[in-house]
Amino acid sequence: MSQQVRVRFAPSPTGPLHIGGVRTALYNYLFAKQTGGTFILRIEDTDQNRYVPGAEDYIKEALEWLGLTPEEGPGYGGELGPYRQSERKDIYAKYAHQLVEQGHAYYAFDTPEDLAKMRVDQETLGYHSAKYDQRTRSLMRNSLTLSREETKLLLEQNDNVIIRLKIPEDEEISFVDLVREKVSFKSSELDDKVILKNDGMPTYHLANIIDDHLMEISHVIRGEEWLSSTAHHVLMYRFFGWEAPKFTHLPLILKPSGKGKLSKRDGAKFGFPVFPLEWRGEEETYQGFREDGYDPNALINFLVLLGWNPGNDEEIMSIERMVELFSLQKIVKSGARFDMDKANWFNQQYIQSTPNESLLPHVKSVLLSHGVDRDDNYISQYIGLMKERVVRFEDFYKEGSFFFKAPIKYDEKQVKKRYNPELDVHFVSIKNLILATAKEALSDKVKSYLNDNDLKMGVYLPLLRIMMCGSLKGPDLFDIISLLGKDEACERIDTALESFKKYS
Ligand code: GLU
Repeated sequence: MSQQVRVRFAPSPTGPLHIGGVRTALYNYLFAKQTGGTFILRIEDTDQNRYVPGAEDYIKEALEWLGLTPEEGPGYGGELGPYRQSERKDIYAKYAHQLVEQGHAYYAFDTPEDLAKMRVDQETLGYHSAKYDQRTRSLMRNSLTLSREETKLLLEQNDNVIIRLKIPEDEEISFVDLVREKVSFKSSELDDKVILKNDGMPTYHLANIIDDHLMEISHVIRGEEWLSSTAHHVLMYRFFGWEAPKFTHLPLILKPSGKGKLSKRDGAKFGFPVFPLEWRGEEETYQGFREDGYDPNALINFLVLLGWNPGNDEEIMSIERMVELFSLQKIVKSGARFDMDKANWFNQQYIQSTPNESLLPHVKSVLLSHGVDRDDNYISQYIGLMKERVVRFEDFYKEGSFFFKAPIKYDEKQVKKRYNPELDVHFVSIKNLILATAKEALSDKVKSYLNDNDLKMGVYLPLLRIMMCGSLKGPDLFDIISLLGKDEACERIDTALESFKKYS
């Protein structure tokens, strides 16, 4: 095997890419960049029953949005393709047959009824979970129990037959995981996995290791759920006489409560996205971080720390900095809690540190989606006023829509607390000040007017704000008035006074 680092992200296109998958892709990407290696995308679509149209495009779009573009993969070029397993069908069967010839695998002719009976028999015997394994294989219909002639006949009668891996007896199967160090399984715990199905297609296990070998993958970095399969994989590497790649299994991403694995349904349950992009499937729709107004760099920054940390208190990191600091050895073993407040915090930090002109296209598209079309100059100034106050791009509309449309209702409770029609005369004076004063001097002018006339700031200024914004929220009042412009601000005062009368 070459010394060159080659890593792959190998999703199955069975639906949208879950955030855990994105983190796997990210760690593979960082490791490749750090070592001058290659980041490969391989689509593991051998299970046609679980194939979901659109899922592969979704995966690619998500990776590209996040800046994790593969260097090799379907549609990305590369010498060792094809990179879609359904296009490699012809490669796998011969390897499965080779293992049968070498005595490391066998043909299995069991009917679904045979398998159902096996399960019932094992349950009767009190086995913990029914398994086709070294205990049961001798009771089943396979090339180990049938005579040579019977086997030959069955092979002739069937175009394709199932091939199972023959797990050796009484062995300890060990491998080194870069996070967990030595991992061992007793061979008696492992089942005789199907490696070739009766439609001639390989299962994940066979296709995965053949492709990792043929694509010269040096490191396998994947989710913890594959840890026990790795025992089967290292056995197959041994049977084929191939050097196995180095393995790293990533910790689970846990629910916000810290209890149990974060599931795709948790997003809907807790009201936040657990997918990078929105997914509109035939059966279900899932929220996406992109559509919900998150910056891809903030999402990456949030994800990189779910299961890894640089060993110091650095939190905000550019992708270049992550490449510099990342190390497989610092990946933690224990599950990482998905904390949406933290994701929001990262997004806020990214928005605040991004120049207004870079935020402009995002904010424009959010505003357009709400039917607001304003010139770039106005929107840029608006961004400047709002960027400290928003968490997500979407908030640029939600938190500041009054910059684009006059309020249609006012915070009645606050108005009632402060307003009576005797104040009108002073609001007319304030209107005149707005018309006559340069932006920069307006705040001082209005405040001196209130002082000089012995009027309470705590009454007039909040009311003026409600006139502009509908409520007490928003950035500096005089910045709002300046951006709205004199005419608009005065018009809002007139309209508000009309409405306030109804409240008092
Ligand atoms: N196709 C597997 C998945 O969807 C890949 C596991 C691996 O990386 O080996 O997770």
